[in-house]
Amino acid sequence: MKHFNPLLIILILCCLSTSSVAHTLLPVGDDDIIDLSPWLYYVQDDKLQRLDDIQSLNPSRWKKIDPIFNQALAVKPFWIKFSLYNATGEKIKRYLTIGNPHLDKIYLYHQPNAEQTVHLEMGDAYPFSLRPMVHNQFVHSFNLAPDQVHTFYLRIETQGSASVPLTLKSSNGMIRTTESQSLYQGLQLGALLAIGLLSLFIGIISRSPSYSLYAGYVLTVTLLVATLHGLPARYLWPDWPTVQEAIIPLLIPIGITFMLLFSERVLQLRDNNLLMLKLCRYSATSTLILTLLIPFIRYPLALTVDILAVLIVSLLLMVIAVMLSLQGHKLAKLYTFAWSGMLIGSFITAMMYLGIVYLPMLPQTPMLIGLNFEILFMTAVLALRYNDERKTKLKIQHQALEQSRRIRQAKEEALQAEANSNEKLEQMVQERTLELEIALRELNEANQKLTEQNTVDSLTGVKNRAAFEKRLQAEGRLSRRQQTPLSVLMIDIDRFKAINDTYGHLAGDQALKQIAQALKQKLRRPSDLVSRFGGEEFAMILPNTSIDGAEKVAELIRVTVFQLPLSWGANAIPLTISVGVYAEVIVDDQQVNTLVERADKALYHAKNSGRNRVCIYTVDIEQ
Ligand code: GH3
Ligand code: MG
Ligand code: MG
Repeated sequence: MKHFNPLLIILILCCLSTSSVAHTLLPVGDDDIIDLSPWLYYVQDDKLQRLDDIQSLNPSRWKKIDPIFNQALAVKPFWIKFSLYNATGEKIKRYLTIGNPHLDKIYLYHQPNAEQTVHLEMGDAYPFSLRPMVHNQFVHSFNLAPDQVHTFYLRIETQGSASVPLTLKSSNGMIRTTESQSLYQGLQLGALLAIGLLSLFIGIISRSPSYSLYAGYVLTVTLLVATLHGLPARYLWPDWPTVQEAIIPLLIPIGITFMLLFSERVLQLRDNNLLMLKLCRYSATSTLILTLLIPFIRYPLALTVDILAVLIVSLLLMVIAVMLSLQGHKLAKLYTFAWSGMLIGSFITAMMYLGIVYLPMLPQTPMLIGLNFEILFMTAVLALRYNDERKTKLKIQHQALEQSRRIRQAKEEALQAEANSNEKLEQMVQERTLELEIALRELNEANQKLTEQNTVDSLTGVKNRAAFEKRLQAEGRLSRRQQTPLSVLMIDIDRFKAINDTYGHLAGDQALKQIAQALKQKLRRPSDLVSRFGGEEFAMILPNTSIDGAEKVAELIRVTVFQLPLSWGANAIPLTISVGVYAEVIVDDQQVNTLVERADKALYHAKNSGRNRVCIYTVDIEQ
């Protein structure tokens, strides 16, 4: 403005009258950035296809750009026109930038003067490599000679937002805006990507569906935001403009589907409200179907349906969250707060796209701000939810530990009780065993007594005939082994029958008893044995006793009996005995019987020889 030249005004006025340009001319000064919107004129007519048509157009047909028209969706192709001149007095370089990277086709006609026309074609319908300048936005650079008037005609064909934010920048302005824009976009996308990837890793590692779904949502939104900034067209799919065109309407329903499934889990609708759960699931199914249908729907319609879906789902989730908040659900309150950011932002954006509201910013900006707000808070919601889950798990773990401790204690007590009862049982068994042992011992003793009784003659109290036979066999073996002589004495009471006959059997019995006791007393060696052989006959075994010894014993007992003071009532009963003796070292088992036979023969001989005497067996006796 400083170098305002009155001459130029005249020149311009002349130009205006001749070229039928009826709009204001922009003077370009030292400003780094100039917003061109107040200087723009447009005309919309299907018939106006070529530059010639426009140039020959009646100037009155050009209208000042209306901001609401400018941002609406699916407008018909239109022309924009503006003129500028260099008011600095020096040659300068300027960059014309179109800040909407989603315009499909831009036909740019740049007329540095009346004769020359520079024609350029740009837009996201073309591969990135065809752009006149490598930049996320569409940029055209040109030089301005002092006082030179440049006229620009732009034909815009687009199916999305028809917003054409035109700015003129100096090199400084260009660098500054590109830098700050890159920083802002990098920061925004970096934060989203970080949250998305972190959630994804947590989701995969901890197998938490909430985190995985949230990661799906955030990563979809990240790609959507990057696409809105025009970045993937440059870095991800520079040679596939078709992808660039189709991706936005496709990403929106995918994002909504993730959001619905995530909300269902984070708000625990399954436990809280089944109706809301059903609504969420139906909506998620619908948006999934919408995702599949999108490629077959025309772009403007698809975008409109998407926007409506965003509005409906946002409202639905808001209503659910508010209702749960009112019911006192802790997480729902924070969720409502987070979601309100997204709701307000997308509501404003939708209003702007639908041409109802105008704000001096790109239509997607309110939604992007809301999204960032929402994602940050939603991360907090998720973290709280995770913490809640962790606490619950810890509590359950603690309870399980406590329970297992109690079980262990009960087991130990049971074991202790078992050990105690075992001990008692053992003690009882021991007692019973002892009792049994005592009983057995008693039984044994009784048995022994019985056996002993069996070996004793009941009348006289000396051993009986059976005990004599048994002992004779045993002593016979011993004599044979030790080669010692075994003596046998056969004793018979003389004329005993007469006693019975005279005094009666009872007197006879008593005499038998007394004689037996006298015989027993005279035996001094423990191995000697006296037995009742039968009737009034006795037999004696004297082991390890020679014939001489046996004779002495025989003589001793004969004298003893002879001297016994036997009596029955007032009558003295004189009694004598006859004794047969034989001794031999035993050689074989049968020999003991011979021993008894020979002693008996000696006894017989004693009887015959006059009784009351001792007789030793000799061969002579046999004859
Ligand atoms: P000897 O031997 O001197 O020839 O005359 P003896 O009278 O003893 O002879 P004998 O052998 O014929 O008689 C045995 C008698 O002993 C018969 C029986 O009266 C008597 N006697 C046998 N056993 C018992 C008994 O257990 N009790 C009593 N009281 N008498 C008995
Ligand atoms: Mg006899
Ligand atoms: Mg006799």
